[in-house]
Amino acid sequence: MAAGKVELSFLVGFWFQGNAFRHHPPDPPTAGEPSRLKSRACIVRVVRALIFDLDGTLVDTVYPHVFSWQQALAEAGMPIDGWRIHRRIGMSGGLFARAVAREVGRPLSTEETDALQRRHAELFDLLMPVRRPLQGAVELLGHLREAGVLHGIATSGSRPLIDSSLEVLGVGAETVVIERGDVARAKPEPDLFLACAERMGVSPKECYVVGDAVWDLLAARRAEMLSVGLLSGGYGEDELARAGAYRVYRDAAELDESLDELGVLP
Ligand SMILES: [Mg+2]
Repeated sequence: MAAGKVELSFLVGFWFQGNAFRHHPPDPPTAGEPSRLKSRACIVRVVRALIFDLDGTLVDTVYPHVFSWQQALAEAGMPIDGWRIHRRIGMSGGLFARAVAREVGRPLSTEETDALQRRHAELFDLLMPVRRPLQGAVELLGHLREAGVLHGIATSGSRPLIDSSLEVLGVGAETVVIERGDVARAKPEPDLFLACAERMGVSPKECYVVGDAVWDLLAARRAEMLSVGLLSGGYGEDELARAGAYRVYRDAAELDESLDELGVLP
């Protein structure tokens, strides 16, 4: 973490809070800090940041992942209904393969798991040679950059599979991206989000996680972060709210229109 970035984070937080007070918006809740008085007392140290999931949140890849896993599993003699796979998307690949093994009633060897992950990646690339941003995602990230709102991406996906997605979103080297290979444990463990907050130089308690799956929201709770759910990955509003989402929006476009509800914009 460069010293200059820490200083910038401090200044950005100070500027946002100053503007927020001029317009008197409602204070959003802060994880672990229920006291309004306490929040105001610490005002100059508050920096709010957004941490985005990738698949189903910013890029339209959930269903291609479902079909790719379904085909890879069928080729390996493990036919599984698509909806069961859908509810596991967003976990790490290794965790996913083990969960599927429980579904089919027999354990998978490490070699089988590795082969399934390789085949899934091959099929996914065939199915989605060009990634498609979800509605409003490119614009949302652009607006955050223009406004100087700290944000990063934390995904259970791995490079190079995620590189095309980052490219179509216009995510450059200036954006913190934490991928599966950067941490020991993927979602629903909190490691990805905690690593992203650390790289951005902000406290986990000042981060909002934005995700489409219950795994994102569970990992956010374990990281002591507030979370926002998006319906763009196929989960229902009730599921996301029950998993702990502070707000649920239709997609990135609606979140873009609602950033003031999170207190990250002046
Ligand atoms: Mg997702």
